[in-house]
Amino acid sequence: MRGLVTKSTGSWYEVLAENGSNYKSRIKGKFRTKDIKTTNPIAVGDWVDLSLEPDQDTAIITQLHERKNYIIRKSVNLSKQAQIIAANLDQAYLVVTLASPFTSLGFIDRFLVTAEAYDVPAGLIFNKLDLFSDEGLAVLRDYESIYQTINYPYYEVSALEGTNTDAIKELFKDKTTLISGHSGVGKSTLINAIHPEAKLRTADISDWSDKGRHTTTFAEMIMLPFGGRLIDTPGIRELGVIDIEQQELSHFFPEMRELINNCRFNDCRHINEPGCAVLTALHQGYIASSRYESYLSIYHGNDTRA
Ligand code: GDP
Ligand code: ZN
Repeated sequence: MRGLVTKSTGSWYEVLAENGSNYKSRIKGKFRTKDIKTTNPIAVGDWVDLSLEPDQDTAIITQLHERKNYIIRKSVNLSKQAQIIAANLDQAYLVVTLASPFTSLGFIDRFLVTAEAYDVPAGLIFNKLDLFSDEGLAVLRDYESIYQTINYPYYEVSALEGTNTDAIKELFKDKTTLISGHSGVGKSTLINAIHPEAKLRTADISDWSDKGRHTTTFAEMIMLPFGGRLIDTPGIRELGVIDIEQQELSHFFPEMRELINNCRFNDCRHINEPGCAVLTALHQGYIASSRYESYLSIYHGNDTRA
């Protein structure tokens, strides 16, 4: 029987089988992901084959179906090992706030690079619109213009007041969407706004403790009543790319990707080489300096900015 993994806690998986039942499932045998070492063989969003246990309530995952794509985070302990967070995504959206908490351009760019590296279409949702002063709105417009120029879709919402949340419903309808963002940006509030029955606990509720958040639930799939699946990633600070070759990095910046064939040297790093088309575009203002800074930061492995 085929099923879809909707929750993963490391040793147990919740699988929604095609008969409509949910089965707590375990893995038997070895499942390997091509090219990378992973700490978890199966992730939320995976399609699997199940074999029911004699109790008919639990099941064994016997087969993993080929993935369209997946997204990882670096394993916390073992730097060269990846943890697959979710598979078979149609799109990934980062929820961004400019105050409480602040989301930096560097953080946004690392998210977008990750999505590019794993072939997941990505965009931004600016939340807490109701909190913006005129000054804040000016910063928001600056942020937006950077990403508009390079064709990343973005939305402005207030999850709390329900502003523009219909557009988000439309965006998520009939798609499998991963949402990510700093803790406190309002992911749970947004999910509750478009799907009130989800009743996700938001940060105001005190028993939603840090301890609770950092249990081994990496991601959870929420079925949207209007069609579509949402993959929430509570407690995951940041997605990531494993083993990205420095030479490959510019391919994950769309505005650079289209220029690199014009560089004089075909092994151009776009740092200080003569005849570099990327540097020319940067100096002429066609590439945002913040994007180029993010390029350099990732290139040099400075992964620590907020
Ligand atoms: P999460 O950690 O991303 O799931 O964030 P939560 O949904 O728990 O929200 C964190 C805090 O931000 C809560 O106090 C929410 O009430 C608040 N919040 C969420 N969305 C908005 C919004 O659009 N406007 C304002 N003013 N507060 C919001
Ligand atoms: Zn170059």
